[in-house]
Amino acid sequence: MKALVVSDDINFLKQACTLVNGKAEYDAVYVGEGRVSGVGASTLYTVKKGTPYDAVADGILEIMGNYDIIVAGSTEFGREVAGYIAGKTGYYAATEIFSLEFSNGKAKTKRFFYGGKTVIEEESDAKVFTVAPGVIEAKEFESKPEEKDLPIKPSKVRVNKVVPKNAGGVRLEDAKIIVSVGRGIGSKENISKIEPLVNAVKGELAGSRPVCMDYGWLSEDRQVGLSGKKVSPKLYIALGISGQIQHIAGMRNSKTVIAINKDKNAPIFQECDYGIVGDIFAIVPKIVEELKK
Ligand SMILES: Cc1cc2nc3c(=O)[nH]c(=O)nc-3n(C[C@H](O)[C@H](O)[C@H](O)COP(=O)(O)OP(=O)(O)OC[C@H]3O[C@@H](n4cnc5c(N)ncnc54)[C@H](O)[C@@H]3O)c2cc1C
Repeated sequence: MKALVVSDDINFLKQACTLVNGKAEYDAVYVGEGRVSGVGASTLYTVKKGTPYDAVADGILEIMGNYDIIVAGSTEFGREVAGYIAGKTGYYAATEIFSLEFSNGKAKTKRFFYGGKTVIEEESDAKVFTVAPGVIEAKEFESKPEEKDLPIKPSKVRVNKVVPKNAGGVRLEDAKIIVSVGRGIGSKENISKIEPLVNAVKGELAGSRPVCMDYGWLSEDRQVGLSGKKVSPKLYIALGISGQIQHIAGMRNSKTVIAINKDKNAPIFQECDYGIVGDIFAIVPKIVEELKK
């Protein structure tokens, strides 16, 4: 079994390589800048950052004969590449997986369903896979891959205009500590009352969908959940978040979860390691005080 692992994001590339390592021999394609190490691949194809997905996918199709499966990190780019390859080859694609095994020529995959409440185990003829973000702890592998250029064809996509998102470019997926606020924060102005805690724990600020999307109290790239970022920090502090499954889907891989909510029946208390029933505005300053000691 030989796999080609693809990503335009070094962390996603390492997560996908970690999934494949030990199950198949593999090469990697990295679309980006900088030195790549620790992926464990035999051959590393590097492609210039910003190369359109169809040009990369066409390049992969040129060398596809050398590989049994394609595994892409599930960034927007990775999903485009995987979709393009599956469409062109007619191969079945298994998407957003977090587990991959092979038995009797079949792929056995696992992925979350119903907003992360259920795990679906599937057996299929899939040859194209996307790896769900943030659900696999990326490992470093020793290797000195042979470096090659991927054959790149002209893109058929013409970009007429790029409208940059108004966002701070935060990478919650890499954060070790996240302080996340929900509708219980009450207003945009109240977020400043949480910032001393964010600073004290040296964390990243995140939020639920109402906070990031509906009210715009935080930027969209700080949203955690099914339709937001999938995070896996060592510590996730949920403040005034009820704990609906769509939110849990984004943070259930956190190592330790602390929740503060004034409703003792809030579902978040089923998902946390430490729960405090009470008002965030009364409790957070006390925690900050203790941390300062
Ligand atoms: C297709 C789809 C995708 C979705 N994707 C996402 C997603 O990616 N991420 C996401 O978060 N949601 C997502 N949602 C929305 C999700 O269903 C919930 O509506 C949302 O998570 C609720 O956000 P919340 O917990 O901030 O608000 P609420 O459910 O309103 O909870 C607020 C909580 O704050 C508590 N509270 C209020 N005041 C205080 C106080 N002073 N001190 C302490 N506690 C207080 C309340 O008791 C309550 O439990 C999605 C929904 C759909 C349909």
